[in-house]
Amino acid sequence: PAQSMEELVSLCKRRGFIFQGSEIYGGLQGFWDYGPLGVELKNNIKASWWRTNIYERDDMEGLDASIIMHRLVLRHSGHEATFSDPMVDNRKTKKRYRLDHLVKDQKADVVALVAEGIGESVENFPAVVAALVANPARASEVLVAAGVRDPFSGEVGDWTEPRPFNMMFKTSIGPVADEDSFGYLRPETAQGIFTNFKNVVDSTSRRLPFGIAQIGKAFRNEITPRNFIFRVRELEQMEIEFFCAPGTDEDWHEKWLRARLAWWEAQGVPREKIQILDVPKEDLAHYSKRTYDLMYDYPTLGHEEIEGIANRTDFDLGSHTKAQAELGIQARVDENLDSVAKLTIPHPETNKPVVPFVIEPSAGVDRAMLAVLSEAFTKETLENGSERIVLKLKPHLAPIKVAVIPLARNREEITSVAKAIKADLQSLGLGRVLYEDSGNIGKSYRRHDEVGTPYCVTVDFDTVGKGEDPALTDTVTVRDRDTLQQERVKISELAGWIQARLR
Ligand code: ATP
Repeated sequence: PAQSMEELVSLCKRRGFIFQGSEIYGGLQGFWDYGPLGVELKNNIKASWWRTNIYERDDMEGLDASIIMHRLVLRHSGHEATFSDPMVDNRKTKKRYRLDHLVKDQKADVVALVAEGIGESVENFPAVVAALVANPARASEVLVAAGVRDPFSGEVGDWTEPRPFNMMFKTSIGPVADEDSFGYLRPETAQGIFTNFKNVVDSTSRRLPFGIAQIGKAFRNEITPRNFIFRVRELEQMEIEFFCAPGTDEDWHEKWLRARLAWWEAQGVPREKIQILDVPKEDLAHYSKRTYDLMYDYPTLGHEEIEGIANRTDFDLGSHTKAQAELGIQARVDENLDSVAKLTIPHPETNKPVVPFVIEPSAGVDRAMLAVLSEAFTKETLENGSERIVLKLKPHLAPIKVAVIPLARNREEITSVAKAIKADLQSLGLGRVLYEDSGNIGKSYRRHDEVGTPYCVTVDFDTVGKGEDPALTDTVTVRDRDTLQQERVKISELAGWIQARLR
């Protein structure tokens, strides 16, 4: 695995996985662009998630809802009121920070002073933050007295009281931009699933339990985006809302936890690199009864959330439904006089209409990329003493599945065979197969090691019957990324050989 974030960032830029957004104009903080290999890896991760969670199960449906949503959706979901992070300003530098990030990044003795100042134990960091938020005036004094430094200037700051900053992006819809014409860019894909619950049930005749899965962009105006693609303002999520009868929710929560850990393992993110955080009551989101955060051990950052698996109870459908009073909703929901739909489904035993409970496994695609890349990153010393970087990606995730390389790029008899092999392998539908005649075979191998190409196929003079050994006619050399073994394979058997190994 990678030892530092730095070596990942450098590989990603050098080989074309990830670039800074708007880079030629100086860049835009919190926005990243996925390059030629990044888009392949990202698509492969999403395809694997889709396959596992929809195609390989029989209790799931897919969805692709729109990104811009009616403001009422985000009002009744609770996001307008509560989707915020605490922010503080330094009066001296005019810089703004997310309170918990600011404190966490201070030297240990300063963090201890802050904790002591607000009367909480430094061991329970979330409680320290909660206490600062609950006592804004005191918080401002404590931050100054403890000597909390501004990460930008390095000087002790003159800190304001913390106040909530709502992270939703707004945009105006239509030609008139006024107070009434705005909509939100969704801060999570989940709400599109809840607002389509009835459409999906009516069109598929689903009964409980069943789930709806969606992959798509979400937007959060993070106060301090940072750590490469770990915390960004435009992110992508893979979310499942699994609907079940009240009372069966806790059982489904455990089942989804196990299923999700198994999926991560299959992507090359081993179980022992993920800690399961049973989120303490005081840190739960407004909709949650219980949440497991999967904390992956990121290089440089340490354990940070890669996926949240929340029991959202009947809060969401209960908040978005009309006729709330007659439905026996268990969560505490605000009155809804706007919704025109009753979001119920027959209870599997009583057949009476019920607002189902929801289990939500929600994973970030960007954080998945980072974890997958980090696990695959390998530095090896070869027998001859030289060092190589190799991305040991699971084959189904590799951006390029096979590189077909003609050993001489201006010999038509060789290039035409190589091109025919590329076309043949490409037609198998395994993903991208690359014809590459950049010239230097050693450089090609090194490049394909670094981007994780499982197999390189080389067409040489022997292949076309012009080498030393006539027995090698119509065979190619296949080089294995991980073992570095080279094997001679008959062209007629190549497709089957590759297919058997990349399935
Ligand atoms: P954090 O505490 O790190 O801000 P969160 O608890 O707000 O994350 P959720 O609302 O649970 O995150 O979102 C579900 C998933 O979406 C996360 O597990 C993460 O993978 C991803 N995610 C959330 N915010 C971001 C972001 N700013 N950048 C990249 N991925 C994100």
